[in-house]
Amino acid sequence: MRVVPPRVSRASQASPEWRKHVSGTAQRQLRIVIVGAGLSGIMAAIKLQKQGYHDVVLYEKADRLGGTWRDNSYPGVACDIPSHFYSYSFAPNPDWSRQYSPGAEILAYVERVAAEHGADRCIRFSEEVTHCTFSDGRWLLTTSRERNDVADVLIVATGVTHHLNLPKLAGLSSFEGACFHSARWDHDVAVDGRRVGVVGTGSSAVQIVSALVDRVAKLALFQRTAQWIMPQDNAVFSAEDKQTFRSDPAVMTKMRAGIARRFIERFSDAVVDRGSAQLQVIEDTCRNNLETQVHDPALRERLRPSYRVACKRLVISPDFYQAIQKPSAQLVTDPIERVEPTGVRTRDGELHELDVLVLATGFRTDRFMRPMQVVGPAGRVLDEVWSSRPSAYLTLAVPGFPNLFMLNGPNGPVGNFPLIEVAELQMSYIAQLIDLLRDGVCRALSPSQSASAAFENARVQAAQNTVWTTGCASWYLDDRGVPATWPWTIAQFYAALAKPDLSAYELV
Ligand code: NAP
Repeated sequence: MRVVPPRVSRASQASPEWRKHVSGTAQRQLRIVIVGAGLSGIMAAIKLQKQGYHDVVLYEKADRLGGTWRDNSYPGVACDIPSHFYSYSFAPNPDWSRQYSPGAEILAYVERVAAEHGADRCIRFSEEVTHCTFSDGRWLLTTSRERNDVADVLIVATGVTHHLNLPKLAGLSSFEGACFHSARWDHDVAVDGRRVGVVGTGSSAVQIVSALVDRVAKLALFQRTAQWIMPQDNAVFSAEDKQTFRSDPAVMTKMRAGIARRFIERFSDAVVDRGSAQLQVIEDTCRNNLETQVHDPALRERLRPSYRVACKRLVISPDFYQAIQKPSAQLVTDPIERVEPTGVRTRDGELHELDVLVLATGFRTDRFMRPMQVVGPAGRVLDEVWSSRPSAYLTLAVPGFPNLFMLNGPNGPVGNFPLIEVAELQMSYIAQLIDLLRDGVCRALSPSQSASAAFENARVQAAQNTVWTTGCASWYLDDRGVPATWPWTIAQFYAALAKPDLSAYELV
């Protein structure tokens, strides 16, 4: 039997029946608090303001907005999703420099959009929300500045790749050179002409290696697991292209739609069907890339993964194979034994002497808004509800936690669809629920336990057909080995989030 995600019920697709019960009811003035000023949080603030919600506050623990694009400033940082697709639908950008733009450009873009739409004015910077307790129909918040605030609706947009995964390497603290995580790049540390080690072979590491290999005296890449590499052409947009985009924005809209269609057909939907012909195309492309670009047969075998292409999050790079074959590069596949004051010693006894050690070891992607303490009615603690693993109804709400919604929360299409588009879809859905609160249909709502359990069961079952369960370790997998992602097609994601099915919610 084919399991599909919950569909929009016929009743809720019809013209809103509930409106007649509340006609004449005064609209509630809602206070809405958003947590996190990354791409999702900024978008939420803009959409809410456009929808007529003006009592909106956004708490950001850092002193600058931008989320992952603020945190990741490592050499070579770029987005591997085409920029005209990795943009807000309401803010096309004619000035993208290339098809896949560098991180600094994306950060400047989100800062500009936030300023143009006035979203930056509702941000309280350097203030972390530490506690949220639902009491008497509202969320009571406490922040790191010991401010008390209230919210009728809480929107959590704290990101997925946010909490650092720091490796437990013996002797790490004894290292006498500079050592930092890829998402905390220390720009005061010189790398030119020095000996640099990079731990990890994910998207971040690969971009760092390509960017540094010609600048350093030696680059040692410590690989625990080889990665499949998808080749990439990164065309530059000419001044003429940009002028065309500027004078006729419809060109960008059309281009975005074309990119989205191809991205979904060729990648997003391919990876959720492990037997699909499109997945085979990806597999052939990556295999061919390895065979044709890596010339030394011994190095090629050390770079060859032992699992299926796209089982781990696919690494996309125009030049990693060229970089790792340069004289200054060294691929180290012997496991790390320990870190010593002057470098990294591998199990074969060799000491790799280093001046700088970069930990490109990824993120704890199951943390979400934690360590924020979230306490629902009757003292229900979110951290306890999520003690085994985080989960959410339709990726955005948790039973027992009313009027709390998440952007890029658990179980979304996190690795196979742009998170900026995911967040916009989620926000359109959430906005419809918020309108019910504003219009007096109810004072509080949260998904029912039964709807959430049915969704989760269907999700876990469908996950078995994805490429993510074909035999690799990855950050997609939860403690049971189940991918913590959306296992259906993107069309099903759009359909499920088109309109809330109120029969899945408890309205109070
Ligand atoms: P990642 O994909 O999780 O990769 C972490 C790497 O560190 C892996 O190679 C892992 O090895 C290694 N590692 C972790 N702990 C280790 C240990 N104790 N000893 C040795 N090696 C260790 O992290 P990431 O590269 O930062 O990327 C995270 C995600 O961010 C990506 O999957 C992607 O979704 C996103 N990202 C996107 C872009 C973009 O262009 N859009 C760029 C960068 C990142 P194992 O494989 O053996 O676990």
